[in-house]
Amino acid sequence: MTENSVQKNAAAKTPLNWTTVTFFTLVHILALLAPWYFSWQALGLTLFLHWLFGSIGICLGYHRLLSHRSFQVPKWLEYLIAVIGTLALQGGPIFWVAGHRLHHAHTEDEQEDPYSAKRGFWWSHMLWMLYPEAKFFDSDQYSRYAPDLARDPVYQWLNRYFLLLQIPLGVLLYGLGGWSFVIYGIFLRAVLLWHSTWFINSVTHMWGYRTFTTQDNSRNLWWAAILTYGEGWHNNHHAYPNVARAGWQWWEIDVTWWAIWLLKTLGLAKKVVKIPAHASPLLK
Ligand SMILES: [Zn+2]
Ligand SMILES: [Zn+2]
Repeated sequence: MTENSVQKNAAAKTPLNWTTVTFFTLVHILALLAPWYFSWQALGLTLFLHWLFGSIGICLGYHRLLSHRSFQVPKWLEYLIAVIGTLALQGGPIFWVAGHRLHHAHTEDEQEDPYSAKRGFWWSHMLWMLYPEAKFFDSDQYSRYAPDLARDPVYQWLNRYFLLLQIPLGVLLYGLGGWSFVIYGIFLRAVLLWHSTWFINSVTHMWGYRTFTTQDNSRNLWWAAILTYGEGWHNNHHAYPNVARAGWQWWEIDVTWWAIWLLKTLGLAKKVVKIPAHASPLLK
């Protein structure tokens, strides 16, 4: 079966969700206004928020801290990091964490992995959200896969109202730099951060080198690792999902690890899961 026919079959199962399609299309169109609102400050703001919401919010927060519990921080800090993750506009923490744990539990399974790369590049990159299968957007399923978050009222609140948090952010950015900051800090930043994150579900299950012979087709891909602050070392991550560090070799730059290391040095991150001794000799 060709990749295209797999995608068509997958798409045929569930209808297109027009609300989601309209939402993503609108945000992309507003991001395309960027050249008319350009300023160096606005570009700097985009890069800063891409790092803050992407590396700290998603990679360090939603992914390594909440999904894998690869280290621990005081509860107040965990909530603060989760709020930063929520601002990345990638869904609430319970939805994100449950989906990601499903991805690890059933990696590349065409039925059970929400963004299985076996269903083709576009499916794993974004179509899985545009043709939503009920079981991947189901609150009972979330509670099963993320019970630690689902019973916490703070996470319940963030999960329900994540979208609304863009409003105070937008008002703040408008006050600081007018429409230019809103276009760059909300819309352009959201689009760039979406596609960077989505590359982890698509390209790092297709291209790159493999350090570990895992059951899946996960790969280490340098340019994805740069765009995602270290998450592109995805083969290392699938081999040892609970290890806090994703880049293992000296050249595998892992910017998110630097932030975890800093938190550890400051005494704020504890129980940081290290690379196991038996795994190190596997690296040449
Ligand atoms: Zn993966
Ligand atoms: Zn993971």
